[in-house]
Amino acid sequence: MVSSCKTVIVLDGVSLTCHVERRRVKNARLEVKPWGLLVILPVYGVNPLRLIEENKNWILKVYRRLKESEVLYQSPGNMFPLLGVQYTVILDEEVNGFKIDEVHRLIRIGFNFNLSDFKNFLKKTLLDLILLFLNSLPAEIDKQYNRITVKAQRTRWASCSVKRNLNFNIKMVSLPINLIEFIVYHELLHFKIKSHSKSFYRLLASRYPDYKRIRKILGEYFTMFNMNKLWQLICQRHFSKQTISSRLFRLVGLGSTSG
Ligand SMILES: [Zn+2]
Repeated sequence: MVSSCKTVIVLDGVSLTCHVERRRVKNARLEVKPWGLLVILPVYGVNPLRLIEENKNWILKVYRRLKESEVLYQSPGNMFPLLGVQYTVILDEEVNGFKIDEVHRLIRIGFNFNLSDFKNFLKKTLLDLILLFLNSLPAEIDKQYNRITVKAQRTRWASCSVKRNLNFNIKMVSLPINLIEFIVYHELLHFKIKSHSKSFYRLLASRYPDYKRIRKILGEYFTMFNMNKLWQLICQRHFSKQTISSRLFRLVGLGSTSG
């Protein structure tokens, strides 16, 4: 980045935080974020105010949509989706660690709850499902993977390398099973066709004719899970155990005000 500045602009009565950056790029571009507007400009030329004015309607449209989905997806801190079902997280002093109560749709956590154990449980649940799905596929489908990894990923559901390593986002475990299968199948197709070309989508459509609709739903889930308080806690890279447990107990509405 060459230079940057931050300001507030008002568009049709809506005030937006605006971050202007000059970078070594060819073309100017605008990115609407939940916090406001990012304006990326080449090192020389292009008047940011004129650029914003020219794209005013588009900016407002995208910004309003983002704000709406934020409200829509804001779930209370004690909710956690698992395989497409919303569970309520509650504190249960009789439980050692945690217990998934499918009947009452509760995740009961004890005082000695350990977030890493829970994370490992989520990983294993997802991995087992992926393997089950792979084994259920007909023999003519190429599924000769090298390695499967499940981890927290910020930007996507899955990826596949030239070495035939499959990487899956741990948050997939919150999706309904049919969507987990869709993502796995999509990645397997990359063994055959690397790029998202027309022939790739033709092949995808032969099993999932409504793949465009599914992709849209997956996008909505992605936003939803990113905003889920418990997922945010799980995906934090550095945390002290103390901070996590006090934050977690606060999340489920019980507990300690320290930390
Ligand atoms: Zn792909």
